[in-house]
Amino acid sequence: MVNITLVQGDITQVPVDAVVNAANSSLLGGGGVDGAIHRRGGPEILDACRALRASRYGKGLPTGRAVATTAGRLPAQWVIHTVGPVWSREEDRSELLASCYRESLRVADELGAATVAFPAISTGVYGWPMDDGARIAVETVRTSGTAVEEVRFVLFDEPAYRTFAARISAS
Ligand code: ADP
Repeated sequence: MVNITLVQGDITQVPVDAVVNAANSSLLGGGGVDGAIHRRGGPEILDACRALRASRYGKGLPTGRAVATTAGRLPAQWVIHTVGPVWSREEDRSELLASCYRESLRVADELGAATVAFPAISTGVYGWPMDDGARIAVETVRTSGTAVEEVRFVLFDEPAYRTFAARISAS
């Protein structure tokens, strides 16, 4: 069964096989985790994303899907880009958020990645409440059936870290 671990810090510093990026559908960069990954990883990642836009994902990567590129200069082999849903009060988009975790792990399995780092997808600019985001993240990874050995959630600040820690011990 997949081993779930938690660390507080910057996901661009974490040595793992694959780092998951909370991208936007353009794949051409943004703020938050996305900005940090492109800044530290260097232009190779953006080149690979542009190539995806020119081929398989002409209209961008749909919400809930995932695709891998090189990790450039990051201490990882691959970046797995996934597009989280924007949180909505009117509409339950939980299944799309779960799909980000599930599809990222499916891509990781295809790559043969043993260790994968995830940020708390959609909980930044996209506004998802941290507690619910943590619940969906932990439940989806636990039930994914992935061959990945370790999923490491990398939480940027202490409140996020505590929220994930509480979720893991509650279930
Ligand atoms: P989204 O658009 O999916 O909400 P964001 O990048 O804005 O994505 O935020 C997702 C989560 O990642 C937030 O909880 C944010 O605090 C966190 N975050 C931002 N930068 C980093 C980083 N360098 N490493 C890990 N987590 C980060």
